[in-house]
This record gives sequence, structure tokens and C-alpha cells, in this order.
Amino acid sequence: MQVFNRGAELSAALGNEKVLTGFVPTMGALHEGHVSLVERCRRECRRVVVSVFVNPTQFNDPADLRSYPRNLEADLKLLEAAGADFVYAPSVEDVYPEPDTRQFDFGQTDKVMEGAHRPGHFNGVAQVVSRLFAIVQPDKAYFGEKDFQQIAVIRAMVRQLQIPVQIVPCPIVRGADGLALSSRNALLTAEHRAAAPQIYAALKAGVEFSRTATVAQTERFVTERIDSDPLLKVEYFQIVDADTLLPLDQWREGVATRGCAAVQAGAVRLIDNVGGYGPYDK
Ligand code: AMP
Repeated sequence: MQVFNRGAELSAALGNEKVLTGFVPTMGALHEGHVSLVERCRRECRRVVVSVFVNPTQFNDPADLRSYPRNLEADLKLLEAAGADFVYAPSVEDVYPEPDTRQFDFGQTDKVMEGAHRPGHFNGVAQVVSRLFAIVQPDKAYFGEKDFQQIAVIRAMVRQLQIPVQIVPCPIVRGADGLALSSRNALLTAEHRAAAPQIYAALKAGVEFSRTATVAQTERFVTERIDSDPLLKVEYFQIVDADTLLPLDQWREGVATRGCAAVQAGAVRLIDNVGGYGPYDK
């Protein structure tokens, strides 16, 4: 496994030879969720490239950027074991020699949920991912469904910029107690960590409830269930069309659903999502 701090050097090492190249962009503080993406990439591609970069332009909260966990040494050990060939761990200056002023427009896709609650977040994601794609030029890029809306935004970006890469969505990896693995879980207090699995439990309970209830009733049910724990506070819970990410007003036959939540657990903001809501999407 080779580690690069400079994009130009990584590009040169990758060369122009046509080799099926897979790419996994991450912000480090790696866990089994990231590892599942790298292992899938390893199975499907000849060459596996992983980036570890905490991208400042996608943080709308400076305190969140400051406290974001970083541990490159441990990350490199995990990546080596998972079968990565190339790691790109750059400085901010290497990725952004000059400020990126590009403004993307993803229509309605980035106006709801994370897009509505974290202004500028997806614009920053598109900035960094488009730069990383330009350096790595991958054939396939792997993204976790943990960030469900992010996949739709990346797909829109790839279409708009006509980047010839296949986006591969990967299932959410959870702890034994159901909590979706996240680098931010390490920042939870012991009490909030103990409460956090109730998010997934409520999302799943909502799927059962939704079989005989309306969209609005289900959204209220899940929200109240999570909020019933004083340590958790729902920022939003919304059931959307899984393809367009647009909010559903009623269940529709043939439309796949996804229930997406953002929850404040003390100082830490957690997101999670589950599919299969309503009487049709079983
Ligand atoms: P991050 O380092 O949080 O930016 O995540 C890098 C990639 O790993 C993104 O595509 C995430 O969606 C994905 N990822 C993060 N957590 C999980 C998880 N628990 N299961 C599956 N993929 C994940």
C-alpha cells in the first residue's frame, strides 16, 4: 500500500494505463462501515484507492469541524488490512490551492433534509468529490447508504459534470445494538451512546406502524418515539421517495420509500435511515 499526501504524485503513480480502478472517499476515523466499502471495492476492482481527508468546505458548523475525530495512523492499518493499494491523505492546501468558489445546483435533491438543515454542506461535498474524482479518475466509486441523500447528490453531480464513473451504493453497517456506525459515535458521552440505539429501533418500529397508517402519522410516531428519551432530540424525520429524495405526501404503489432522520444526541448530531415504509414497499 502506497500513501500519498500530494494529488499530483498520486496521479503520476496511477498513470494512464487502463486498469479497473475503484475509489472510496472518506474523512478518516475509519470503522467497519468504511472497511465494508473498501472490501467491496477490493472484490470488484483491480486497483483500490482510498482518500482520507476531512473536507472543511462541507462543514457548516466550525465546532463540528474542530472536534471531528482524526487518527491517520490507525486508519492506515485498517486500510492495509482491508486491501487498499493507494491512500491519498492530503493537506487542505493540496486539495484547495485556491478557494473553490463553484456553486452547484442540484435542484430539489439538496433542498430537503440534510440540504435544508446544513446549508452549503452538499455544495462542499460536490466540490471535494469532483476534485478527488479528477485526481483518481476511478471507474467505480463506493458510497455508504448511511449518507443516503449524499448518494443522490453525487449522482446528480456526476451527470452534470459528465464524469464517467459508476456510483456504487453500499448498505449501512450497524453495531450489534443497531446503531449505525459513524466516526462521530466516538464523541458521544456514555449516556448518549447508551441512548443512541433507540434511533434505529424507532425507525424499524415505524416501518411496522406504517403498514396501517398515513405518512404523516408515521412521521409523528417515529419522531415522538425518539423524542421520548430526554437524551435524544429529533431534528427531522422525513419519509421520502427513495429515488428522488422528495418528501412523500402519501404512499404510492411502485414508489420505494426511505425514512431519514437526524437526531441531536447531546453535542453530537447523528443521522440514520431505513427503507420499506408504507403498505406497498415491503
Ligand atoms: P465519512 O468518512 O463519514 O465521510 O464516510 C465515508 C464513506 O463511508 C461515505 O460514503 C459513508 O456513507 C460511508 N459510511 C460511513 N458510515 C457507514 C456505515 N455505518 N455503513 C456503511 N457506510 C458508511
